[in-house]
Amino acid sequence: MKKVVKFGGSSLADAKQFKKVGDIIRSDADRCFVVPSAPGKRHAKDTKVTDMLIEAYQLASEKKEKELHKQILAIKGRYDEIIHGLKLDFSLDQDFVEIEKQLNEDPYLDFAASRGEHLNGKIMANYLGYEFVDPYDVIYFNEEGNLNAYKTEKLMAKRLEECPKAVIPGFYGQAKDGRVKTFSRGGSDVTGSIVAGASGADVYENWTDVSGFLIADPRIIKEPKGINTITYRELRELSYMGASVLHEDAIFPVRSKGIPINIKNTNRPEDEGTWIVESTARKPQYLITGIAGKKGFCAVDITKALMNSEIGFGRKVLQAFEDHGIAFEHMPSGIDTMTIVVHEDEFLDKEQGVVSEIHRLTHPDSIEIEPDLALIAIVGRGMKSAYGVSGRIFSALAHARVNVRMIDQGSSELNIIVGVDSSDFEKAIKAIYDIFVTTQL
Ligand code: ASP
Repeated sequence: MKKVVKFGGSSLADAKQFKKVGDIIRSDADRCFVVPSAPGKRHAKDTKVTDMLIEAYQLASEKKEKELHKQILAIKGRYDEIIHGLKLDFSLDQDFVEIEKQLNEDPYLDFAASRGEHLNGKIMANYLGYEFVDPYDVIYFNEEGNLNAYKTEKLMAKRLEECPKAVIPGFYGQAKDGRVKTFSRGGSDVTGSIVAGASGADVYENWTDVSGFLIADPRIIKEPKGINTITYRELRELSYMGASVLHEDAIFPVRSKGIPINIKNTNRPEDEGTWIVESTARKPQYLITGIAGKKGFCAVDITKALMNSEIGFGRKVLQAFEDHGIAFEHMPSGIDTMTIVVHEDEFLDKEQGVVSEIHRLTHPDSIEIEPDLALIAIVGRGMKSAYGVSGRIFSALAHARVNVRMIDQGSSELNIIVGVDSSDFEKAIKAIYDIFVTTQL
């Protein structure tokens, strides 16, 4: 059995956390490839090392040499604390001299940001006695700045064949021009997934500071239950609606190989966490797998008598949005009405332009814009074979005196999306959680 383990920043914030990680890795000989993030926050008011490095880049680009030197010392302090806390006979002094030199001579953001993982990887390799594999040599981006998946997989697989146990820092690789390039923030998740895919791992363990996904947002529901198993498709629906534990792009390299992801908690390693899988016979514990939602949408309602028989009507309406560079989120429709749901912040500046173009192209009877819409997705693979799911949702909302402004059920029967007033958002989520999880009526 081969396991790839990725540890997030809070799991590696200081020597104490590093020791927990070391214990986790040593407790299972299958954990052979380790992908670390940069040290994260040690407490709520702390700064992540990646953010300190970005700040260092800013100072360097403003040619503030003295301030840069101070910032470099502060970052070095974070690493020295870890090295001394682990009692390692190891130093990053020379690395910091070179980083400062590079930032003074030719500062660039991706190089600066990537050093957090690079240095943490070096410490981790020394601490574990594993080989250090620099992703600069094995992860490649193409001309457009996207991952060159084919080249990366080939090189990574070959390199990992040579070393049975290795540390591969997260978050960066090499751009087409030979410079260091990072993924977007949180991108160590993607590196972990690439390593898992290329090494043909049996499982990709992603260690963080929570025991996996929760059925609902803990800021809204007090101590919500966890999700034991979720499919990739369910996860996609929930993360689209704001549930975030894993970087969106981390799914693709493992999904195509059928490698499951197990989200685990470094501070509670005995918890099973959440399994993310392609498909499963495991029944969800509740009728729904999760609830997630977002505020900040608005609905554009277009009405025209006999719209249903007018060929090309829908296309023309969407054309108006496309011409203004606005993506639409949902499109529920009636016989003579059609609603386009869009992100408020993308739409507001352009609304009058869009409205006049819809008028010009389709000559509707009326167009109404409804702001302050919140969308809530109720997601679950179990819905398909159950009756009464939507009945329960709407009766729960009615009992909570929440007015439903929009309903959309995808043809996959994997989710039901309801639109409510932003002011009813929290109340609606509580009502839905209660009916499916707390009371299970
Ligand atoms: N250290 C990077 C960040 O803060 C990448 C990561 O942690 O995955 O975004």
